[in-house]
Amino acid sequence: MSEAERVILLCCRVADATASTVVHGSTQEACSVCAAAVWVSPTSRGIRAREPSETRLMCAQCMIDGLAHGASVVMAPPTPAQRAEILAHFARN
Ligand SMILES: [Zn+2]
Repeated sequence: MSEAERVILLCCRVADATASTVVHGSTQEACSVCAAAVWVSPTSRGIRAREPSETRLMCAQCMIDGLAHGASVVMAPPTPAQRAEILAHFARN
C-alpha cells in the first residue's frame, strides 16, 4: 500500500481542543506527521484497530499544511458509526 492510499483519520490537536470539540471517550495519541498529541475518538480507534497499517492519524494543522503545499486529499464520507458518534456528541453538547 502506498502512502497516498492510506486512510487519514483527521484529528483535533489536544492543544487546540475544547470540551465541545472532543467526542466522549476519546483518547490521546500522536499525529503521524508532527507527533503532536491529538484526540482519537472511539470509532476512529476501531478503524485503526481493524486496519493498523493502512491508517494514519493527522492533526488539522498538518492537513492544512499539506493542502497548502499541493497535497491531494480525497475526503471519504463518515462511516455510519462515525456519523452516529458525531450526532450523539452534538446531541450531548
Ligand atoms: Zn500534525
